[in-house]
Amino acid sequence: MASIDAEACPYCQVDVEEEPPSTTGQFPVPHTLAPLSRPARPRAIADADVFPPRLISGRSPRSTFQTRAFRKTFYPEVADPQWNDWRWQARNRLRTLAQLEQVLVLSEAERSALAQGPATLPVSITPYYMSLVSRDDHNQPLRKTVIPTSAEFHQGIGEADDPLGEDGDTAVPGLVHRYPDRVLLLVTDFCSSYCRYCTRSRMVGHGGVAPSEARLERAFDYIRRTPAIRDVLISGGDPLALSDERLDWILSQLRQIPHVEFLRIGSKMPAVLPQRITPQLCRMLRKHHPLWMSLHFLHPDECTPESYQACTRLADAGIPLGSQTVLLQGVNDDVETMKRLVHRLLVMRVRPYYLYQCDPIRGSSHFRTPVSKGLEIIQGLRGHTTGYAVPNYVIDAPGGGGKIPLQPNYVVGREGGDLLLENYRGDIYRYPDPV
Ligand code: SF4
Repeated sequence: MASIDAEACPYCQVDVEEEPPSTTGQFPVPHTLAPLSRPARPRAIADADVFPPRLISGRSPRSTFQTRAFRKTFYPEVADPQWNDWRWQARNRLRTLAQLEQVLVLSEAERSALAQGPATLPVSITPYYMSLVSRDDHNQPLRKTVIPTSAEFHQGIGEADDPLGEDGDTAVPGLVHRYPDRVLLLVTDFCSSYCRYCTRSRMVGHGGVAPSEARLERAFDYIRRTPAIRDVLISGGDPLALSDERLDWILSQLRQIPHVEFLRIGSKMPAVLPQRITPQLCRMLRKHHPLWMSLHFLHPDECTPESYQACTRLADAGIPLGSQTVLLQGVNDDVETMKRLVHRLLVMRVRPYYLYQCDPIRGSSHFRTPVSKGLEIIQGLRGHTTGYAVPNYVIDAPGGGGKIPLQPNYVVGREGGDLLLENYRGDIYRYPDPV
């Protein structure tokens, strides 16, 4: 069992001198960015329509041209072993206005939000993910999801800090028991990059949910005493921010509970820090089967050679992979973008599982779309592409009602004993409905 002591960083066992436990505290000076000598200009050397990308030579590149250009511009002396080391990436996250203005041309709305300090969620972006963010275009989808703007300070009607009422269903600290047969175990509040629309922005990144042994023992004890629990979803924050040893200990404790049939982990690491998915991590994870994973992908531009390799490693370890995507205005709220995303996910062996209507968290009105947009997207996918590629569109009901699925209406009427059904092309068919 990995011991959890007060001296070690609760997140990734990086020495406390290198990384303090609280992500809201002072952070050591990270790698110094190179001064910008010339703007990085993307150049098409791989066919952008092919995924995973192929170079003209037929080989698969190990990263996109955009990432290579970013590294050359801002991290010219950082060698591959460092860049590909997830701990180096975690230590060198970009978190301040001063750092961000070195790599981005900031809009007024971004600069003002960064200068004020964010309303709820801290700012943090791995150098890898930053390499996918446009330097000049503040409307680029990926940029909108990680760079705060002053819109975050506006509280819209019906918005709340805990719209899903998770706090009300908390059985013991960090353990949410809403549905009878399953629980949500929050192991850490740390994420390597913070998503501006995060449902748990009230808690993630604030240092209040640490993977302390005492707290986790209380959660394990509750699960042991509750035989109805057959499924544990391990989330946070991002559970893969923990060290292999700590995660192994948590999974082993849960595995020893006879009525827990299987485990799930929720993570955005394959999108924001794919270097975390090491062969060692996969070897450890495969000891704990049946283990499933829900991965958080938003946009086709997150599907890079690095994330392809990360998902391949997880799938090769026998872990069934599903994706959870939040529908976001100006990011992925059109059929073509969503279709490219779900197609790429299938190539990465990730089954598009949920499309979430964005939760009404405080400061999210600039991200939320009308529900009709989600229905339009599902209608634009169903029948027009592989059934496996069509996620379940759900609203997580405010107040703790749980996930409620939404579908376009394909039943258009009834004539006598016949049901009138509309197919994906808008043609009407009759089905003799046995009474
Ligand atoms: S990775 Fe998940 S928990 Fe972390 S900030 Fe993003 S949405 Fe929130």
